[in-house]
Amino acid sequence: MEGKLYCMTRTIEHFIDGKRMEASGGASCDDVNPATGEVLAKVSMDEVSAADLAVDSAHRAFRGWSETPVGDRCQVLFRYKELLEQHFEELTQMIVDEHGKTTAEARGDVRRGIDCVEYACGAPSLMMGRTLPRIAVSTSFSREREEGNPGVPLDSSLERVPIGVCVGITPFNFPIMVPLWMWPMAVACGNTFVLKPSEKVSLCALREVELATEAGLPSGVLNMVTGGPDVVNHLLTHDDVKAVSFVGSTAVAKHIYKTASVAGKRVQCMAGAKNTMIIMPDANQDAAIDGVISSSMGNTGQRCLAGSVAVLVGDAPDWFIPRVVEAAKQIKTAKGDESGCTMGPLIDDASVQRVNKAIEGGIEAGADLLLDGREVKLRGFVGPTIFDNVPHDSALAMEEIFGPVLSILRVDTLDDAIAVTHRSPYGNMAVMFTDSGYAANKFKDTAGAGMIGINVGVPAPMAVFPFCGWKDSFFGTLHSNGEDSVRFYTEGRILVSRWF
Ligand code: NAD
Repeated sequence: MEGKLYCMTRTIEHFIDGKRMEASGGASCDDVNPATGEVLAKVSMDEVSAADLAVDSAHRAFRGWSETPVGDRCQVLFRYKELLEQHFEELTQMIVDEHGKTTAEARGDVRRGIDCVEYACGAPSLMMGRTLPRIAVSTSFSREREEGNPGVPLDSSLERVPIGVCVGITPFNFPIMVPLWMWPMAVACGNTFVLKPSEKVSLCALREVELATEAGLPSGVLNMVTGGPDVVNHLLTHDDVKAVSFVGSTAVAKHIYKTASVAGKRVQCMAGAKNTMIIMPDANQDAAIDGVISSSMGNTGQRCLAGSVAVLVGDAPDWFIPRVVEAAKQIKTAKGDESGCTMGPLIDDASVQRVNKAIEGGIEAGADLLLDGREVKLRGFVGPTIFDNVPHDSALAMEEIFGPVLSILRVDTLDDAIAVTHRSPYGNMAVMFTDSGYAANKFKDTAGAGMIGINVGVPAPMAVFPFCGWKDSFFGTLHSNGEDSVRFYTEGRILVSRWF
């Protein structure tokens, strides 16, 4: 990248038709380093005309790109994977600066993103259709009726073909990985793409997109526009957009799903979460403490796979509570690339206020505050927070906080614990720590969540599997990643043929 990396007077460019395009005029917001408060750049929020240009560019590029052999399309992605490896530490540092993650978490973000590119490189086999020869034999024409003629066979096959211009709208919490859930598979399947990243991490997205052009992706195949709701709403109803992928909060997901569906688009919305972790009395104690701490506190609790509710069964609290509080106290909050740091800041001041309000709400609801993250007196930070005896129907137990707050609920039996997972409107993931195969199997079958962890704190699927949220954590039919993503980004075409 040329020039100074960050500059508070620079407005982050769009990326259209294979190059950066200056963003001009209109409303803007600051892109801020959450650990230092430094303004890294400005972000144009409502340049709808740029969205039009991006879709137009993608629309023009579609024919040539969709007619490019899939193997050639994937060669670009192989080169892109190599470029991501070469720029691994640069992207990592950009995530630390723009998002606030620790260096280790930022590396994980890039690595899991590269996994998606590797998976998309398999498009030649993933896109393969199916054939069924001789579904019937025709003998109705005179030549076929001649004696001994076995007739003309009808053959049938299913092909998978690209659909057109696809749009991706992404959240702030995995700046490199979540866009890579979408566009590599979309373009590998022959589509063209417009990415609208979170306004909080648009610098990372711009670099990710720009590197794809360096890898040889033709102009117009992948475009990016910055912006907020106005730009998103414009893209959702644009005549030339065929499909919309969204990852973000449930409230926005519902709006996107409804608006884009009514406009006739294919839509997949990966949404918010409130994930439960059940701790049985017989659990391996080290694994449970490790798993719960990394799930609830990792990425400063800003993960859709964050386990934020721990349900302790029977006498599990006796050993679990002192150990989990002690482990949380060992977490070091600091700027993400500071030596020894194990927890970075929240993304912005609004998030600090939201998490502080949730903590105040928990105290008012009568929960016992065992560890108070507000005691971390660093601007932009809330430290690890743990509540015990959380009322089952309180906001603390039911609502997504998206911060490092662990709510402990106590129950008597396995059935009581599973009932807690059922009450949640969300169904992203649920985790159990136990030594009992019976309890684990019963939990798996009845928890009501799409991603299940057994003795694992964060059951994140590899890119070869779909990211399988249920209930209010997902709207649509085909999820991101895995074979679902191939089907989402392709249309089935049936061919029935006979030759005389
Ligand atoms: P968000 O919903 O605020 O924003 C997501 C995207 O939507 C951004 O690009 C934003 O600009 C846009 N947007 C925001 N408000 C909009 C509106 N009114 N109309 C149109 N577009 C709008 O989410 P966030 O705060 O960036 O990310 C955190 C959320 O994402 C959490 O709820 C988290 O659980 C969820 N998430 C879910 C998954 C998953 O796979 N299920 C993965 C990561 C994050």
